[in-house]
Amino acid sequence: MCGIVGYIGDKQAYDILIHGLHRLEYRGYDSAGVAIEHETGELNVYKSKGKVTELESSVEGKDTGGTLGIAHTRWATHGEPNDVNAHPHVSEDRTLALVHNGTIENYGVLKTALMQHGYHFSSETDTEVLVQLISYVKHTNRCSLFDAVREALRQVEGAYAIAVVEKGNPDMLVVARKSSPLVIGIGDGETFVASDATPIVGYTDKVVYLKDNEIAVIRRDAPLEVHSIDSIQHPVPDIQTLKLSVEQLEKGGYDTFMLKEIFSQPGTLRDCIRGRITNDCKRVVLSGVIENRDRFINANRIVIVACGTSWHAALIGKRVIQEMCRISVEVEYASEFRYGCPYITDRDVVIAISQSGETADTLAAIQLAKSKGAFVYGICNVVGASIPRDTDSGTYIHVGPEIGVASTKAFTGQVTVLTLLALCAGQIRKTIDTETVESIARALTELPQTIKEVLTLADTIKELSRIYTYARNFLYLGRGYNYPTALEGALKLKEISYVHAEGYPAAEMKHGPIALIDSEMPTVIIAPNDSLYDKIISNVQQVKSRGGSVIAIVSKGDRSMEQIADHCLEIPEVPECLTPIVAAVPLQLLAYYIAINKGKDVDRPRNLAKSVTVE
Ligand code: GLU
Repeated sequence: MCGIVGYIGDKQAYDILIHGLHRLEYRGYDSAGVAIEHETGELNVYKSKGKVTELESSVEGKDTGGTLGIAHTRWATHGEPNDVNAHPHVSEDRTLALVHNGTIENYGVLKTALMQHGYHFSSETDTEVLVQLISYVKHTNRCSLFDAVREALRQVEGAYAIAVVEKGNPDMLVVARKSSPLVIGIGDGETFVASDATPIVGYTDKVVYLKDNEIAVIRRDAPLEVHSIDSIQHPVPDIQTLKLSVEQLEKGGYDTFMLKEIFSQPGTLRDCIRGRITNDCKRVVLSGVIENRDRFINANRIVIVACGTSWHAALIGKRVIQEMCRISVEVEYASEFRYGCPYITDRDVVIAISQSGETADTLAAIQLAKSKGAFVYGICNVVGASIPRDTDSGTYIHVGPEIGVASTKAFTGQVTVLTLLALCAGQIRKTIDTETVESIARALTELPQTIKEVLTLADTIKELSRIYTYARNFLYLGRGYNYPTALEGALKLKEISYVHAEGYPAAEMKHGPIALIDSEMPTVIIAPNDSLYDKIISNVQQVKSRGGSVIAIVSKGDRSMEQIADHCLEIPEVPECLTPIVAAVPLQLLAYYIAINKGKDVDRPRNLAKSVTVE
């Protein structure tokens, strides 16, 4: 995925575009570029490999004047990150410039056809094919920019959000989307375009979320026009009010967004729980579940689809829903789901989880589940994203914008929502008693305080991280509820410090990974005081007997582990189903400090993008 920004108005576009690119840099950062329509009628295009600051240095001293422009930060899918493959891409006659998020699946066929018509290509991207196709259609049909873009898109297969400008046409910007997000911000005499609302915040709070298969014409002094790509429909734009503040998008005194987000978890969990538990803690009220009670009562089983960190949250969700609702729950990688010949019926409830609500594979899984008649429930963070639009019902995690690429507060928010869902559905299904609901609900309301306490471990973890900074491999072990926590801890370390780490169910270690253990390979064990504690103690003994060092996450006051493990990090005691939320925090901090010690850019880890909007 990548970031797109566009501007048309009375201000100089360049500064607004660069500011927007910085806001979107968490989405893609292997190269960046801008195209600006100059008053003289020139279309100036500047692009450069690397981060947005590199683009800024390369543009220094050049003419960036103009009040219409488009910009891009890329996450390469077709062609390596370099200056040529960077966006905007221009047509061969240099009259059109286009930025694109997504992939054009039939670009090979289209490229061959265009080459037969005498077109030449300079980049390896699929995107250049699209801009050349628009140019071809425009010349052949002698039509307007809007008609040419629409006709070209009808020939394209794949996913895209695009913005196009034309040389000598300083009053028009054309944008469109299919399976990739695009937001239009409507200001006073100016209009903004972006992949998500973050670049628009601070300029206007009036936004239109373009829907799939829609194309919009943005004219300098005329109201926004939205059309369907495939039909003659002309929908009225649905203008919504944006509820994001500038403070939410800044680091707020922290060195990195990731650290800010780790430390914001007491507040984000409070927001996540707000209004969802009654004051006496006897009932959990998740409107998406209550309004669809029959679906949850009559469900045959629940299938959860997700990718990456959300998939780890899903595994915890499986455990808690099975326990509270006495129903079989299956968890699938969204990216594998539709290729695994899934057996889905109209008696199934399918839960789809994605922080951004735009993960391409998860959206495809949703479509498949819906086509089989399943009831589809979405869990996502970004308000107005595709998941809430494409699902039958759902719940926002409400943890605020997550900018750090490695997910932290979204993970704890997802697990919290899944726990609320399990409790709410369990009450509806009458598979859970009031005492259980009450004790877990009370602990949930106390989570902000509990997490605050866990965060006081930060300095200890920072010290500890120095001992292990140069370990080349890590093993993360957990059991029951905390096997997925182990997977998530290992993933955090891999993502931001590029150290190999493997998460494993603690008891499975004997069936293979134990062969890896030696004095060079530290093991992180998640061992709160739960039903499997005694079993995990013997797993720790097995590691120690092979010379491995052990960092253990244990419940406060645990004195047994102290005797065996090399280091113990104590977390407050909570009901078993909430231990993954509490244990995740020290694991986030451990990964964070190891990456910082190694000098890594934790907010923009190499090769990663915040949400994966391509297959
Ligand atoms: N497929 C395009 C490319 O590789 C766009 C990738 C993106 O979304 O940044 O250039």
